[in-house]
Amino acid sequence: MPEKTLSTATELLETQTRIKEIMDALPCLLYKGTIFKNGKIRLDHVSPSAKDILGVSASDILKDSSAFYDAISPEDRAWIFANHKRLLAAKNPAFLDKDVRLANGRWTRFRAYPKKDAAGNVCWNGIIFDISERKNAEDKLTFLAYHDPLTEVGNRELLFKDFPGIIAAANKNHKSIAVVSLAPDGLGQINTTAGLAVGDKVLTKFARRVESFLDAKEDLFVRMAGHRFIIVLGGLSSHVSANKKIGKILKAFAKPIKVGMQEFEMSVTMGVSFYPVNGRTPEVLISHADAALDFAKQKNRGTAFLFSEELAFTLSRSMKLRRELRKALEQGDIVPYFQPQVDVKTGAIIGIEALARWKTAQSLISPNEFIPIAEEYGLIAPLTWQILKASCIYAKRWHDKGYGAIPVAVNISGDLFRRSKVLVKAVKSILSETKLPPSLLELELTESAAMLDPAVAIAVLNDLEADGVTCSIDDFGTGYSSLSVLKTFPLKKLKIDRSFIMDLNVDQSDTAIVKATIAVGKALNLSTLAEGVETKYHFDVLRQMGCDAVQGYLFSCPISAEEMEEMLKNWDAKKVLADLK
Ligand code: C2E
Ligand code: CA
Ligand code: CA
Repeated sequence: MPEKTLSTATELLETQTRIKEIMDALPCLLYKGTIFKNGKIRLDHVSPSAKDILGVSASDILKDSSAFYDAISPEDRAWIFANHKRLLAAKNPAFLDKDVRLANGRWTRFRAYPKKDAAGNVCWNGIIFDISERKNAEDKLTFLAYHDPLTEVGNRELLFKDFPGIIAAANKNHKSIAVVSLAPDGLGQINTTAGLAVGDKVLTKFARRVESFLDAKEDLFVRMAGHRFIIVLGGLSSHVSANKKIGKILKAFAKPIKVGMQEFEMSVTMGVSFYPVNGRTPEVLISHADAALDFAKQKNRGTAFLFSEELAFTLSRSMKLRRELRKALEQGDIVPYFQPQVDVKTGAIIGIEALARWKTAQSLISPNEFIPIAEEYGLIAPLTWQILKASCIYAKRWHDKGYGAIPVAVNISGDLFRRSKVLVKAVKSILSETKLPPSLLELELTESAAMLDPAVAIAVLNDLEADGVTCSIDDFGTGYSSLSVLKTFPLKKLKIDRSFIMDLNVDQSDTAIVKATIAVGKALNLSTLAEGVETKYHFDVLRQMGCDAVQGYLFSCPISAEEMEEMLKNWDAKKVLADLK
């Protein structure tokens, strides 16, 4: 063999070896194969990285090509076999580039450059990359884009991405949808007492527990913000099935949530709206479910409320009152109205209760509407001082005009009794400012507020009593007083709640309660006053029972200060009694 040829052949061999070495060392799988016209497949070359990428050795594949195809996930394998048919049928087979999932769950990318030979077989050179890491990173990013990182439920983006599809499916299948806005109760307190880290764990467990009642395919569960979640229950045949699920979730929170050694009692409150009756778009349905949730939170935590038009109306009114209450206070639109308290034996006015009214251009708003708002928004103190001051000014004026030593009674909410120092200071300063003799001021404290923290209430009352201010227990009979505690309160009277008077003639047990209350009053040396006395019948029964005083529409509804002054001027006790004979 001539020297030249020999060296060329050696060089060629060297080059081939080098190329093979490089190719084998590449972090990808190179392979070559043929699909014959009869559908048979032969793989002619497979690089050693088959073991790393497919998990099957090159030699096994070369022995039997099905080892190669078995390594691919069933769905993608089916796609590839279908593609083989397309390649055979095509004149110029197209370049292939496809992400392929393996049977072991890893991801690869297949690229192949097919060509037809003269006999019509398809020959190709292919290259396969392992793209699992990139795919996993992508999956993670997609997950993060649509999920809440803490609880791993969906986020608002997922909700607004998937909701239209759920609506479209409901329309197509004539199904309905429920949107549930839900919030765990008491998590704020857990955060403050046990710390944020524990609070986060509780929230996550809360989400898991709710999720266990949902259908991963039909239902959507997302965290909107903070402690607020939304569930979309899709594909409902009737509202009943939604109500059942909701009931189960409510019940599930009878059991506490455990984090480590600690147990947390927790309830969940929900608001519900239905598609299409309560709204047709995601935004409207969500805002209606939110409105129902707000309502449920105000009325009864740990329950679910359904959205309704009445509820929307009430809420918009209470929102309006919330916005305007502060301004009304500043402008002096919250004023006391007055209702006389009449002595049963003499017919004289022995007291006047001040009842707050919110005067607007159109109407008087009831304290039942705005007192809870004032309490919630930290406005109860300024409101109370205004009513207290105005009442003291009027009482002083009426006293100075010679209508008698008639005390004015002002309602004090439980919140203020808990802030004892502030209350004592305000009362004392208003008394000295208005120069009303302290004995002409009476404070009304509800029974339930008195019993919440009796020690504090007693301390306040003792302090004020030393100055001459008196106190009565309001709504007596509706709370759970302990008589031994009540005995230690420096009180003047018990006010028997209106609810017992209302049914005096129909309800035997109410009659018994009123009798018992009057007996308790006598035993504790307190006078008794019945509220809500509307008829002569009420008056007669109460007089027979030995009740000391009455207050109610029988004599007057709450009236303005001017009207009260007229009433005091013209009051004829004898005539009043005579008229009741
Ligand atoms: P309350 O202290 O039990 O007041 C008695 C309520 O019964 C008053 O309602 C009064 O108007 C009403 N009433 C009086 N006589 C009759 C009657 O014969 N029949 C009927 N059906 N009702 C009668 P109002 O004025 O709407 O006050 C409701 C509640 O609001 C009060 O109940 C009191 O708890 C609270 N409130 C009123 N003013 C104030 C205030 O200045 N401060 C605080 N903290 N609460 C107040
Ligand atoms: Ca009262
Ligand atoms: Ca009352």
